[in-house]
Amino acid sequence: MSHEMFNANSNGALAPLSPPPRLLMGPGPINCYPRVLSAMSTQLVGQYDPVMTGYMNEVMQLYRDVFNTQNQQTFLVDGTSRAGIEAVLVSAIEPGDKVLVPIFGRFGHLLAEIAERADAEVHTIEVPWGEVFSPAQIEAAIKEVKPKLLAIVQGDTSTTMLQPLKDIGAICEAHDVLFYCDATASIGGNPLDVDAWKLDAVSVGLQKCLGGPSGSAPITLSDKFVKMVRTRHHVEAGIRDAHHEAARGPKIRSNYFDLPMIMDYWGEERLNHHTEAASMLYCARECARLHLEEGQQNVIARHKVAGDAMLAGIQAMGLAPFGDLNHKMYNVVGVHIPEGVKGEAVRETLLMRFNIEIGTSFGPLKGKIWRIGTMGYNAREDAVLHTLQSLETVLRMQGFNAPAGKGVDAALTVYAEAKAAGVADA
Ligand SMILES: *Cc1c(COP(=O)(O)O)cnc(C)c1O
Repeated sequence: MSHEMFNANSNGALAPLSPPPRLLMGPGPINCYPRVLSAMSTQLVGQYDPVMTGYMNEVMQLYRDVFNTQNQQTFLVDGTSRAGIEAVLVSAIEPGDKVLVPIFGRFGHLLAEIAERADAEVHTIEVPWGEVFSPAQIEAAIKEVKPKLLAIVQGDTSTTMLQPLKDIGAICEAHDVLFYCDATASIGGNPLDVDAWKLDAVSVGLQKCLGGPSGSAPITLSDKFVKMVRTRHHVEAGIRDAHHEAARGPKIRSNYFDLPMIMDYWGEERLNHHTEAASMLYCARECARLHLEEGQQNVIARHKVAGDAMLAGIQAMGLAPFGDLNHKMYNVVGVHIPEGVKGEAVRETLLMRFNIEIGTSFGPLKGKIWRIGTMGYNAREDAVLHTLQSLETVLRMQGFNAPAGKGVDAALTVYAEAKAAGVADA
């Protein structure tokens, strides 16, 4: 009998939570690092307790290090990753502002949609799913559109592609365009150098390679971006004059996502805004501590090995990976569902009989590929091996004859090579 059937006591009252021990190998969320779960159950202190404001300051510094930035304005937006996206876009955009969104997957469409709701004049360019943009393509569009803001995703889990960003910041700077990126899916498992790459705003979440639950959105803002959002902001009489001598234009439409107000809450002024989501702040703090304790290069190397091993295993089983492998994120792989195999039946058997979750897909890829993630706590050899072995078995149950043991053997070989090369924690 399945676990879920034991949810009620004999008197009909609900029993305490007792979810099955799933191994989450989809494109996120993933199983949390145990230390992050412990952090979440830590007792609260008051909102303006110096202990709490001390934690807030620590979180700002921790995320500066995670983002590789000196940006003073590095803090948390309370909410899932799209809270960070909305905060950046609704705070930056005044009605009629031009925003350029290069779209290479589902989350690019999300950026465009949010920018549209903020009444931006949105311009999009697209490449087929499974590809990324060249800097030249982006520069050409910038020259044509002359946007105020470029909004782009770094790693789009819908296609597993990682957009190179390194050369785009200089292009934006040359054309006086603000450069915003949603790096939710990629941060912690792939390089992201906010200052070196001249990004003006970056928002992320915890539930991918940072190994936490969803519900907190770390963001970082350059001085240039901060100046822009503060001066576009309408003066709220008497309260915020110091920051807004040059204020003009309509108010930011959202109170909750008003970045100048959130900055004044996180800053020395401590002006009351929302009540900080303390348990999520504890999680975010622990995610960053774990990341920095292991060492950024080591964490990224661990994700690369896990991703390479999963890819090698998939290929050795006779399955075809999706997309341009030169631009694949380390932490997720798309797998073509073989002819004659029922994709959803495979996922359901993996989940219900093996307690392993892998991902489905959206839009043009719906029903065509699975997505298998190796992120955060689950970017581990044993998680890769169990997933490959179980998938092989389930494929056989569904009539696809994956050669026995080949997938696991290929993954073991990748790990053996990584260990021999001295990759930490491989
Ligand atoms: C997973 C993901 C998100 C998630 O947003 P939520 O609001 O936390 O669900 C956002 N952006 C990208 C690129 C993602 O891959």
